[in-house]
Amino acid sequence: MNTVGAGLQNSIEGDVYTDAATRKAVQRDASIFSLTPKLVVYPKTVADISSIVTFAKHSGYSITPRGAGTDMTGGAIGGSIIIDTTRYLTTVREITSSHVTAEPGTPLRVITPKLAAAQRQFASAPTSAHTSTFGGMVANNAGGVYSLQFGNTNGWVRKMKVVLSDGNEYTLTPLTHAQLKRKMRQDTFEGRIYTQLYELIEHNYDTIKNARPRVPRSNSGYALWDVWDRESGIFDLTQLFTGSQGTLGIITEASVETVSLPAHTATLLAYISSLHSLDVIVQTIMRHAPAAFEGFDESGFRANSALHTQLGLASLLKNRTGKGMFFGIELQASSEEALIQKVGALRHDLKRVKKVKVDVDPIGAHSTAFWRARRSALALLRAQAQAFHGAPFIDDLAVPPVALGVVLPKVQSLLRQYALPASIHSHLGDGVVHIIPIGPVLSKKHRAKLAPLMRDLTTIVKEHGGALSGEHNDGMLRGPWLRAAFGPETYALFVQTKEIFDPDYIFNPHKKTDASWSYSTHHLALPMMLDNV
Ligand SMILES: Cc1cc2nc3c(=O)[nH]c(=O)nc-3n(C[C@H](O)[C@H](O)[C@H](O)COP(=O)(O)OP(=O)(O)OC[C@H]3O[C@@H](n4cnc5c(N)ncnc54)[C@H](O)[C@@H]3O)c2cc1C
Repeated sequence: MNTVGAGLQNSIEGDVYTDAATRKAVQRDASIFSLTPKLVVYPKTVADISSIVTFAKHSGYSITPRGAGTDMTGGAIGGSIIIDTTRYLTTVREITSSHVTAEPGTPLRVITPKLAAAQRQFASAPTSAHTSTFGGMVANNAGGVYSLQFGNTNGWVRKMKVVLSDGNEYTLTPLTHAQLKRKMRQDTFEGRIYTQLYELIEHNYDTIKNARPRVPRSNSGYALWDVWDRESGIFDLTQLFTGSQGTLGIITEASVETVSLPAHTATLLAYISSLHSLDVIVQTIMRHAPAAFEGFDESGFRANSALHTQLGLASLLKNRTGKGMFFGIELQASSEEALIQKVGALRHDLKRVKKVKVDVDPIGAHSTAFWRARRSALALLRAQAQAFHGAPFIDDLAVPPVALGVVLPKVQSLLRQYALPASIHSHLGDGVVHIIPIGPVLSKKHRAKLAPLMRDLTTIVKEHGGALSGEHNDGMLRGPWLRAAFGPETYALFVQTKEIFDPDYIFNPHKKTDASWSYSTHHLALPMMLDNV
C-alpha cells in the first residue's frame, strides 16, 4: 500500500486499498463511463466516514460514495477516493409495520423478503433491486414499476443521517418553521447551512417553484422545490438529499416508509399497431387507475425474446406491423370480484380503441412472468447493447404522459436522423421513457453524434415541460445538460446549493452541476477496438 493509503488506514477501523486490482474493480458502474480511483475504502463505522471526509478536506482528495455500482449515469465512479458501503455498513436497524431503517450498504434483496413477511414492500424499488442497495436507492431517488402509483423514493423518505463536509454526522427530518428558526439561530456549521439554504429558497421562491418539471416524476438537478413550502411551513432537507447522488454529503442511515403488498392483481396485455394511437390508449388506460403500465416498442420487444416465449404471445402479435408497441397493464383490487370487474371494464374500453389488440390473463396467471420479464428487460437490453459496445446515454427522459403520442414519434425520427437504432421502453402512465441504443454507440463514427443528439433531445424535453431524467438521475451523463434544461437562473441556484453544503467540492466531483461534457466524454469506457470503427 502506498503512504497515503497507509496514513488513512491508521486513522480508521475499516479497510483501505490502493492496489490496481481493487481500484479496477470499481472503475465502472452501469454507465458509459469509466474512472479509476486512487483509493478504495470500506468504512466500518460512521466515525470512519467522518475521518475520511476530514482527510479528503485537508489533502486535496475527493470522495465518491458507492453502493452496488448499478448507477447508469457515472454517479458511482470517481478518480479519487471511493467509499464502498457494501462490506460493513449493512445493518437493518428496524422494520416496523410502516417503515424500514437501515444502513446504506444493505442490499435491497436482504430487506425485501423481510418486508414481504410483514405484508409490506418498497413503494419504488428499482428493477435492479436484486443487486442494488438501500443507500443507492435513496441517493439516486430511484423509481420502479409501481412508481405510477407511488412516485419515486423521495416521497417515502422520512428521516436520514448524513455526514457533511465538516466531517460531522447530522440527522435530517422535516422541520416546522419554529424548529427551522431554532436551527438557524445556532452559530455552527449546521446553523449556517440552514440559514443559507432557507434564504436562497425564500429569496427565489417563485423561480424555484416554477422550475419544477411539469411531469409526474422527475429526477434532475437538486429538488429545491420540495425543500421549503410557505403554505405548510415545512422545511425538509431529506428531499434535497434524496437524489443528490452523493454530491452534498454521505448518507449513513435512512428511514423509508413502506406500502402494503397488493391483495389481488391481474395483468392485461395489449398491442397497438401504430404509435399514432398512443395518446388515446394512454388516456383510456389511465382512466382505469392502473397500478403499473409499461410499454415496449417492437425493437425492444424483439430484443426480449424471453418475454415473448414466457407469455406465449404469438396470437396477440400475429399481425404486428414492426411500428407498434406492446403493453403490460397491472390492475389491483382488494377482492377478487372487484378485480374481475376492473379487468372487464378496461378490456371493454380497450377493445373500442382502433388498432388495439388486447388479451387478458386469467387473474394473476401470467402476471408473474410478465413482470419478471419486465424486470429483466433493462438488463437484457444492456447486455445486448454491450455486445455491440453500446450502452445507455439517452435512457431516461420524462415528459407529460399526454404528450407521449407526440414525443415518441419525434424521438424515433431523431434516432433515424442520427442513424442510431434503439429500443424504447416506457413507463407510459407517468411519461418516463427509456431509450437504449442498440449498436456500436461509442464507436468513433457514432461518438460524434452524442452531443448533438443530447442537445436535440434536451430541446424536445424542454418544449414539453419535461425533465432529462425521470428516475436514473444526472451524474456525468445529464449533469452537463442541466444548464440547458433548467436555464441559467435555476442552474445558478443549483450551483449555490452545492457550494453551501460542499464549498471545497470534496463530494462526488464531475457529477450534476459540477459535470462538464468534455470531462465526461474524456472518460467514456471505450474498448480499444472501437477506435477505428
Ligand atoms: C439493469 C438495471 C436496471 C435498473 N433499473 C432501475 C429502475 O427500475 N429504476 C431506477 O430508478 N433505477 C434503475 N437502475 C439504476 C440503479 O440501479 C438504481 O439507481 C439503484 O438504486 C442504484 O443503487 P446502487 O446500490 O447500485 O447505487 P450506486 O450505483 O452504487 O450509487 C448510486 C448513486 O448514489 C450515490 N451513493 C451511493 N451510496 C451513497 C451514500 N451512502 N451516500 C450518498 N450517496 C451515495 C453514488 O455516489 C451514486 O451517485 C437500473 C440499473 C440497471 C443496471
